Amino acid sequence: MRTLDALDVDGKRVLVRVDFNVPLDDGRITDDARIRAAVPTLQELRSKGARLLLAAHLGRPKGRDEAFSLRPVAERLSELLGEEVTLAESLDDVPDGDVVMLENVRFEPGETKNDPDLARRYAALADAYVNDAFGAAHRAHASTEAVAHLLPSAAGRLLEREVATLRGILDDPQRPLVAVVGGAKVTDKIGVLEAFLARADRILVGGAMCFPFFKAAGHAVGDSLCEEEGLEPARRVRGAGGEKLRLPTDLVAGREFSADTETQALDGVDVPDGWRGLDVGRRTANGYAEVIRDAGTVFWNGPMGAFELAPFAAGTRMVAEAVAESDGVTVVGGGDSAAALAQFGLADQVTHLSTGGGASLELIEGKALPGVEALA
Ligand code: ADP
Ligand code: MG
Repeated sequence: MRTLDALDVDGKRVLVRVDFNVPLDDGRITDDARIRAAVPTLQELRSKGARLLLAAHLGRPKGRDEAFSLRPVAERLSELLGEEVTLAESLDDVPDGDVVMLENVRFEPGETKNDPDLARRYAALADAYVNDAFGAAHRAHASTEAVAHLLPSAAGRLLEREVATLRGILDDPQRPLVAVVGGAKVTDKIGVLEAFLARADRILVGGAMCFPFFKAAGHAVGDSLCEEEGLEPARRVRGAGGEKLRLPTDLVAGREFSADTETQALDGVDVPDGWRGLDVGRRTANGYAEVIRDAGTVFWNGPMGAFELAPFAAGTRMVAEAVAESDGVTVVGGGDSAAALAQFGLADQVTHLSTGGGASLELIEGKALPGVEALA
């Protein structure tokens, strides 16, 4: 992968694909982490004499739609860079300026089709291309893939670090390598579980994705979130996992998915009718925390329970605290896992907090990321 070290940008107009897909509430940015994460690359390019043309997507608009305008992002970036960021409403009328941001690339119908004509229109606006949008690198879109072949191109610092860190976990981890995998659906994470079956020393499973494992083994799951399509993959992973794979041995259950519902601690993993398993139990969380603290490398993706609800946050909190305390290399991926870390005030206590949910999982699964391959 080419990096910024291999790209001559002095006096050039550089098209930079960034991941500015931030959460908005009524036009207000509620978390600007993704914007801040791109700033080092943008500052490096500016200090090397480049003028910037930024390209990014926001949400999933169907055609041009003001509600998905990048204007609030341009304003926030302008504050962070201390420079004027001009928004270009149209590809046909891009203003001059040291830092210009194109409007949401998904306003263009060809963007998600990786349309070569659209890529040529992007390329005509710049002298070089930098991709720093790790969170979009698993998609072959015109601004992430096709355009990279049309200009001298390189990875930005964020994308470079994401790829190096995640590949490092697969290729040369400090041992023991511990994977902590949770979240809602086992089918989302099956590729990751399989990748770690081949490489990790321990795999700790939590979250609702446990229930297909339990159901396949004949346990009652009550009203727990339990994906039917997950039963077969869960059975397969459990068969292959042997001693490496650990599942919860106790749970916290609630009547409803709600913070003020009745709760009970279950000593075991059978969930009675009328109840749903919403967190791992105390014994499980303690056991997982101990393994995590002694790890050489930890990769964590997916919360241990419904951490958004206070009565069901303890398991995720204990895991998050153990990850933060571990002396090993600690890498956290996934939007909700990152939100959980932030909720507990621990986001700055891990080695690497990945900005890419889907992209980090696909990289761990060993899949080629089109946006990365295009920079080879
Ligand atoms: P990430 O974004 O970190 O990859 P996921 O999207 O896979 O994580 O899963 C996060 C979601 O899973 C959270 O919204 C959480 O509430 C939910 N979840 C975790 N455990 C349970 C459970 N036992 N029952 C219901 N929902 C759960
Ligand atoms: Mg999620």
